[in-house]
Amino acid sequence: MDFVLPTAVLSLMDGLELAGYPAYVVGGCVRDRLMGRAPHDFDICTVAAPHQMRASLPGFRLLSTGEAHGTLTAVVAGASYEITTFRIDGEYADHRRPDSVRYVSELGQDLARRDFTINAMAYHPCQGLVDPFGGREDIAQRLVRCVGDPAARFEEDALRVLRALRFAATCDFAVEPATASAALAACHTLAYVARERILTELTKLLRASAPHRGLRDFAPVLAAAAPGLAPLAENKERWAQAVRRVCAAPDSAAERWTALLWDIPDAACDLLRELRSDNATRQRVEALLAAKELSLTPERAVLLRALHRLGPQATRQLVALRQAGAPTLAALEALLNENPCYSVAHLAVKGADLLALGLRGPEVGRTLEALLDAVIEGRVENRREALLHILQGPCAH
Ligand code: ATP
Ligand code: MG
Repeated sequence: MDFVLPTAVLSLMDGLELAGYPAYVVGGCVRDRLMGRAPHDFDICTVAAPHQMRASLPGFRLLSTGEAHGTLTAVVAGASYEITTFRIDGEYADHRRPDSVRYVSELGQDLARRDFTINAMAYHPCQGLVDPFGGREDIAQRLVRCVGDPAARFEEDALRVLRALRFAATCDFAVEPATASAALAACHTLAYVARERILTELTKLLRASAPHRGLRDFAPVLAAAAPGLAPLAENKERWAQAVRRVCAAPDSAAERWTALLWDIPDAACDLLRELRSDNATRQRVEALLAAKELSLTPERAVLLRALHRLGPQATRQLVALRQAGAPTLAALEALLNENPCYSVAHLAVKGADLLALGLRGPEVGRTLEALLDAVIEGRVENRREALLHILQGPCAH
């Protein structure tokens, strides 16, 4: 296998190797490269302990962010690369990853502590691929499979249950049957995982290119991760529908969450709060769900009303979530191209014009809304004279 590594990575590996410490790239970058995808970051593992990394890489800027776990971060030309000592995890308590680690001397031991075969490969420019657990074969078979006994691996660290589903979704792989049934059996241990981490994994899973891979057969896992999902997860038909909706939605966090929660709008807010979602995402989901019943057809006035209420971005999202169909989306885009008037701010008359006409206080706002309504319904053009004219007419406000 020919793996072209960035110069920065090669120089870090060279520095370590020249000092006598074998070094490899490992994990996600090897997986992504074998899958023909561009790796988004390169992790290095080595036998050197952090103080030995420092001594071997004198010219480099090394940050000690994860030093307690054997990780230094090298910053080269603005990009960062994690370098981690070969290690195994300490004792697992409460189904969570341990705080302590133990350094080891063999790459094989380090690979064995990793979660899935596709993530447990390393590469060295001279030695080539190191793949003791058949990760390459699993990539060919498109399978997410635990390294070792899946029940034991999930028992050690409950987060792996969600990681399995997430990698299935992001790689468009199936979860290998023994791994899948162990994941389902380990559901209850998710109660031990911090909710922020659950949210992070679920959002990655939802935003993936093939979310159905991690959702369809795993309703009980999702209900254990976010108990508010239970009403959906316990009903086969509703769950299947939710999964289809997620797959069809645009891939932003808010839209995918909205798609998942479409059928249980009243539970959405609590569920996202419970998982410590940021306010912006939560409010976006709530706004989209609140507009569920809003009429959305290709007629101009209908679309202008939606734009008035939601703004262009959320209207587009809603059309997509509703699967309202191509004509509606095309009509919306054509309308937006005209810079239409759908908000009081777009009107050709301003509050000051109304004050000049003698209107006062709340009347001003009400009149502007009435004018907007007339423009949206096509009763008057959005031109200053036309608007002033109807204001002076008999049925002004
Ligand atoms: P991504 O593309 O999402 O970054 P990744 O494979 O790099 O994928 P990370 O979460 O960044 O995933 O972790 C890096 C590597 O560390 C993984 O490839 C895996 O080998 C190992 N790893 C991470 N989390 C765990 C875990 N909970 N249990 C075992 N190994 C893990
Ligand atoms: Mg990574």
